[in-house]
Amino acid sequence: MKIRYFDNAATTKIKKEVLDKMFPYLTEEYGNPSSLYTLGRKARVAVEEARRKVAELINCDKNEIYFTGGGTESDNTVLKGIMTLEKNKGKHMITTKIEHPAILNTCKTLEKIGTKVTYLSVNEEGMISLEELKNSITDETVLISIMFANNEIGTIQPIKEIGEIAHKRGIRFHTDAVQACGNVAIDVKNMHIDMLSLSGHKIGAPKGIGALYVNKNIEFKNLIDGGHQEKNKRAGTENVAGMVGLGEACKIAKNTLEEHTEKLKMLRDYFFSEIKRRLGDVKINGSMKQRLPGNSNVSFKDVNGSELLMKLDEKGICASAGSACSSGSSMPSHVLTAIGLTSEYAEGTLRVTFGDENTKEDVDYLVDALVEIVASTQNG
Ligand SMILES: *Cc1c(COP(=O)(O)O)cnc(C)c1O
Repeated sequence: MKIRYFDNAATTKIKKEVLDKMFPYLTEEYGNPSSLYTLGRKARVAVEEARRKVAELINCDKNEIYFTGGGTESDNTVLKGIMTLEKNKGKHMITTKIEHPAILNTCKTLEKIGTKVTYLSVNEEGMISLEELKNSITDETVLISIMFANNEIGTIQPIKEIGEIAHKRGIRFHTDAVQACGNVAIDVKNMHIDMLSLSGHKIGAPKGIGALYVNKNIEFKNLIDGGHQEKNKRAGTENVAGMVGLGEACKIAKNTLEEHTEKLKMLRDYFFSEIKRRLGDVKINGSMKQRLPGNSNVSFKDVNGSELLMKLDEKGICASAGSACSSGSSMPSHVLTAIGLTSEYAEGTLRVTFGDENTKEDVDYLVDALVEIVASTQNG
């Protein structure tokens, strides 16, 4: 059966151009970038070339990019690295209630060792309030970490305004941009971003590779101890092929941003209009204006989400209930709870996230399937 993949917020297929670029570094070019002979030096050149491509996607200096093992590690590095280094200056940080578990669970760990964390609420669209942010800042605040775009409902936060507020008060600003990278134009200088997390497998590169941008004027402590790699900030022999793949994916993202986002928006808006036309009682979650181009998140009244997913799977359709990380549980996700979705709708929530390979015909197939399944399961 043909697979129709609508779960690009969970992970993406590796792009062919990315795999082609990586292949030599998994085969003939296997040198250690720290080695001084030619084979090693060629790997070093490839790593530095990849670093430059990542930097160009977000408009920072190449030396401000550190490769990591993924988005989760980048988030952990920032939060733990800043809060432990700055503990004499202040123990308070501000984040939101709708962050990815990579942030929320790191905050829980930090709370156990004395960090005070403020979790900002969001409105029904998933948007924070800049007033609440300003009012939460104290003399002890050393870090603000707010996600660029939400992985479940796609809401994009007012990042530049947040950065301005942070910098007026001399506070460092980190953003988890794992979902936004490659889908929204990002300029860390213009947006006052000090630190940013991104991940390979959400933008057509492999799993297990990511990057962290840290402004050159900001001190942070490494998470992983060991060798001198990544300027002593991330020990361990480099994942050369992964880095090369991430670099290539960033280069493609930069060169195709406009057509990519236009295509995804077209598919998403077509999906929204078709389900509204053909299925009456459906709720669209998240903001209609400040939203990731490929994200849709809809709730059907009195429908069981996991049953819905299973029946979609039988038709070759891959989609997600709340978030991939909390699937298997029938509790509404922390994001749906934070936007105040009532339980009769929250249960029947479906996240459909589009990618470059999807077509309009795929959307028709999906909507046909939804019409059939929702009719047969609702109140059933
Ligand atoms: C996927 C994701 C992460 C985790 O990235 P990994 O590379 O899978 O560790 C973090 N934050 C957000 C918003 C994500 O969507």
